[in-house]
Amino acid sequence: MHLKIITHDKIVFDENVDEIYTRGVDGEFGILKDHVPVMTALDVGVTKVVQDSKYTMFTTMGGVFQFKDNKAIILTDVAENSNDIDVVRAKSAKERAEARLADKSAEIDAKRAEAALARAKARLQAAISSNS
Ligand code: ATP
Repeated sequence: MHLKIITHDKIVFDENVDEIYTRGVDGEFGILKDHVPVMTALDVGVTKVVQDSKYTMFTTMGGVFQFKDNKAIILTDVAENSNDIDVVRAKSAKERAEARLADKSAEIDAKRAEAALARAKARLQAAISSNS
């Protein structure tokens, strides 16, 4: 089966794959060849792609997952191959977001801080999982 991961700017991935594991708004799910058609909204999280028993991790930040006739498409705001993730930057983004959320006195945009925290956590998860 085939998977394309597409963002506003570019095609991040466009290859044949054996297995796909990703995170929809209703939870994590996996897709194997000949799965029934699926159309679902994606959460901010990590997508794992298996090819010849080797796997690659991507962040996928919301968007839509579609699978039909052994072709999968992920259309997402932001997607990064785990190898391209700057772990130090993601750690500081996580700390920044956590500090904002903990600071009850400040006028913060909690939704924005929560979204930044979710992106940072997805990046760290993708980067850590890819090395294990
Ligand atoms: P930061 O606060 O560190 O900028 P962010 O979550 O606000 O993080 P985004 O708005 O999600 O960043 O992404 C902006 C751009 O920066 C995107 O192209 C994204 O791929 C890239 N980017 C963000 N964080 C990282 C990271 N840790 N490693 C590599 N690229 C990153």
